[in-house]
Amino acid sequence: MKKIAGVDIGGTKIRFGVVGETGEVLADWTIPTKTPLYPYLEEQIIKIKKNFPDLTGIGIGTRGMVDAETGVVTFEKELEGWQGTSVKSQLEAATGLQVEINNDANCAALAEVRLGSAQGYRRVVCLTVGTGLGGGLIFDGKIMNGSHGGAGEVGHMILYPNGLLCGCGRKGCSEQYVSGTALRRLIQEEHVINPGTGETALPQDLFRLAAEGVAGAITVRERFLCDFAIVISSLQAVLDMDCVIIGGGVADSADDWWELLLEKVEPLKLKPLELKRAVFGNEAGMLGSAMLIID
Ligand SMILES: [Zn+2]
Repeated sequence: MKKIAGVDIGGTKIRFGVVGETGEVLADWTIPTKTPLYPYLEEQIIKIKKNFPDLTGIGIGTRGMVDAETGVVTFEKELEGWQGTSVKSQLEAATGLQVEINNDANCAALAEVRLGSAQGYRRVVCLTVGTGLGGGLIFDGKIMNGSHGGAGEVGHMILYPNGLLCGCGRKGCSEQYVSGTALRRLIQEEHVINPGTGETALPQDLFRLAAEGVAGAITVRERFLCDFAIVISSLQAVLDMDCVIIGGGVADSADDWWELLLEKVEPLKLKPLELKRAVFGNEAGMLGSAMLIID
């Protein structure tokens, strides 16, 4: 059996896995992210290779943008020294193994297509609604990377011209309206109080409170899901995908909002479209990065 190391690099944590070719996880652990990242990462990978001498490759998913062909991180501002790093060539030289690197949201999407709820679909858009709004596009089994590794940046489609300032420096990006961070802001704006605690509601409780009839929570839910449906509809107009997979932290509460989202998407659909919940949670990035090597 082929064994592959899958690595998911986040802002605070790096998750490692050793994964079999059909997705079975043979080992899985997490360490804090340290900068400068490259020498630290190489050191960890060398250790893995010692413990698993029969590894056939190393797949890496990272925050930021990546040129998948050259394996260079093309854009990432928060991890010191990471932007501009030739991860693929350096790690291949250090280990003698095949190394592939891609963006973390793309890797999470690949995990859903190969092993999860998008199996059998040919044109898939995966949306990760967490702190931000991430996207991954997998068409005919291949990640659509774009010319600069920037394809699938769904969170930076402008939803409201001249709207809220985004981390990318522009205004009105969809991530400012459809994300966990957006929920937090909407809760403040609508002064949603959790009647159970008497305190400002937390994003993870918002949809439950709305289901229980808390007035401000219903308003927040309405604003959030209407914007979410528009994002999905715009993506369909451009991409005509078969299937949208929705995951990320906000999807943990999907039992309380899934049917309502489907209702809002329905009149905006241009063609048939399936919406499905992601199978994988936090492990998606690690699993999908390993699948880069199976490719
Ligand atoms: Zn933006």
